[in-house]
Amino acid sequence: MSIVARRKVLGGIGAGLAAGALGGASAWTQGKRKLGYAVVGLGSYATQQIMPRLAQCEFAELRALVSGMPEKLEKFGAQYGIPRTHWYDYRGYDRIRDNPDIDLVYVVLPNSMHAEYSIRASQAGKHVLCEKPMAVSAAECEAMIAAARAARRKLMIGYRCHFERYNLHAVELVRSGFAGRPTLITSEHGFYARPGQWRLDRALSGGGSLMDIGIYSLNAARYLSGEEPVEISAMESTDRDDERFRTVEDRIDWQMRFPSGAIANCVSSYSSGHNAFRVTGNRGWVELEPATSYAGHRMRTREGGRINDVTLPAPAKDQFVAQLDHLAESVLSGTALRASGEEGLRDMRLIEAIYRSARERRAITLA
Ligand code: NAD
Repeated sequence: MSIVARRKVLGGIGAGLAAGALGGASAWTQGKRKLGYAVVGLGSYATQQIMPRLAQCEFAELRALVSGMPEKLEKFGAQYGIPRTHWYDYRGYDRIRDNPDIDLVYVVLPNSMHAEYSIRASQAGKHVLCEKPMAVSAAECEAMIAAARAARRKLMIGYRCHFERYNLHAVELVRSGFAGRPTLITSEHGFYARPGQWRLDRALSGGGSLMDIGIYSLNAARYLSGEEPVEISAMESTDRDDERFRTVEDRIDWQMRFPSGAIANCVSSYSSGHNAFRVTGNRGWVELEPATSYAGHRMRTREGGRINDVTLPAPAKDQFVAQLDHLAESVLSGTALRASGEEGLRDMRLIEAIYRSARERRAITLA
């Protein structure tokens, strides 16, 4: 079976992988104009990863910029040919309501600003793509979902790995029974956080490594297992003498038990480098390292006693382009979203349980 055909039979994050995400032009979009994104927050992720990818999209393009810094509006407005009429600062942000060129809003701000700027976009009648973590509490996530629902607009979360070919293939292999019955998932994410950035200020980040990078360990454990955990047990290890960790945690590791009996061991760190996962079953394993990086994914599998390197063909769209197009295509075609607000809320509830388990030094049973 071809990769395209096999992807269509995936469950979990593979489910709903639409033709557009694989680069096929669909009859229903032919002749229609592309949808326009406003990008909110012109920081490193927005300007280095997202805005260049918008030029490669099939169903969307960059139409407006939102920033508190006039010099950034000047610079990126000139670079991307965005007219001044389509530049906004944070106070004037709600005026996007009056701009019919803006269909979609991509919120790429510090975490504690996600809820406010997503809700204001929904209220302005726009569809929203909001970066991970969805917000800084489950209550905020619920308010975002309610605002999008009230406005009858879509709300998607920036889980780009749900569109990344190696991650999709790993899910496919696990679901196909390649490794046998999955019993153990290890999922490790971390990097060295430089001092002096908003990520280390709880008021802006909502938490430390878990909110930022550990969320990849969490989300991957869920899509690899295809299950929701029933029990969580976490431990935190933070050197509070390190000036970076006055208000947020450094390292937090946790275990999750799934209904099938599978266990996930997850790592989240701001003081060591990790980017890997492995799913082990009774017949073999599937691993990615790096697993959730921007590029350069490497897959290995073990089948019986044999270890194989797996290389996949280049996709028509990389994970960023596929994600950006997915929201536009979903709006245009009325199809369901992958990585919806509900997905972000599930992670946020689990993040709250992880913090609670570490704080109270006990396992948390989930309903
Ligand atoms: P960044 O610091 O590079 O950019 C943040 C932007 O927000 C800047 O343009 C800054 O000017 C603006 N901003 C507005 N108000 C601010 C305030 N009070 N304090 C600080 N900045 C303020 O950060 P980033 O790395 O681009 O991260 C932005 C968001 O994107 C975060 O939610 C992060 O989790 C997410 N992100 C996702 C990925 C991914 O792979 N999906 C990668 C990086 C970042």
